[in-house]
Amino acid sequence: MRKTLLVANWKMHLNTSQASMLVHRLQERTRIQRGIEIVLAPSLLTLQPLSMQIDRRKFRLAAQNAFYKDEGAFTGEVSFSMLRDLVHYVIVGHSERRIYFGETLEMIRDKVAAAVRNEITPILCVGETQQERKEGHTRQVLHDQVTTALSNLTSNEVADMVIAYEPVWAISTFGGELAKPAQIAEAIAFIRHQIEQLYGAKVAAAVRVLYGGSVDETIAGGYLAVEGCDGALVGGASLNPYKFAGIIDAAYRLRHETEQEG
Ligand code: PEP
Repeated sequence: MRKTLLVANWKMHLNTSQASMLVHRLQERTRIQRGIEIVLAPSLLTLQPLSMQIDRRKFRLAAQNAFYKDEGAFTGEVSFSMLRDLVHYVIVGHSERRIYFGETLEMIRDKVAAAVRNEITPILCVGETQQERKEGHTRQVLHDQVTTALSNLTSNEVADMVIAYEPVWAISTFGGELAKPAQIAEAIAFIRHQIEQLYGAKVAAAVRVLYGGSVDETIAGGYLAVEGCDGALVGGASLNPYKFAGIIDAAYRLRHETEQEG
């Protein structure tokens, strides 16, 4: 059974002391549970102090971004090789990076490869805009984003990575329309089908696929129960300890029910 993964994307919020306070609150409310992995993605500046504060049995850290070269004259950038001892995961291809920072399919492919080269697991975000969905291009967009991003990886490397289906129209800061479970199930099945075509059934069964887009504690249970969904990437609600703890509780409950059935 694939592990459930909950990722808190704090984006450009929380300075070091605010982040530390949030970790303190979350740590109090979180149990250690096999089968569920909770990942915090604070700002780059805050990773180092949080790496000393977190209870590693409860949390892992992710970077929100890094540059694809390992070192060189790239003013303002931080490389995956600089992050490799600090984080387990990195978010790559988030729609805010594609839209605000002009990240192309090829840049995202190179970032995924650089993360893997440095033993950091990429959480690759893919998803269509409202316009693309209306025009019937959802599958084409997902196909292009998935196949390009993975094109320099081996099957084993793909099996270990994480893909987050995040329709842009469902992200709280881009409209926050609530996706229907059937839409999520269809997109996740399509992503797994792409992986199966390229890397085989074993790899498709191993790769974890998350959902992201306005997930909060009130709807997390329903979204996490979607066929093929292995967890959630959470933006806004992850900044609130009560809401994020509520999402973690929903995952615990579902996991418990599924393990009892199985
Ligand atoms: C995100 O930005 O990845 C995200 C899912 O944000 P939100 O939960 O706020 O929609």
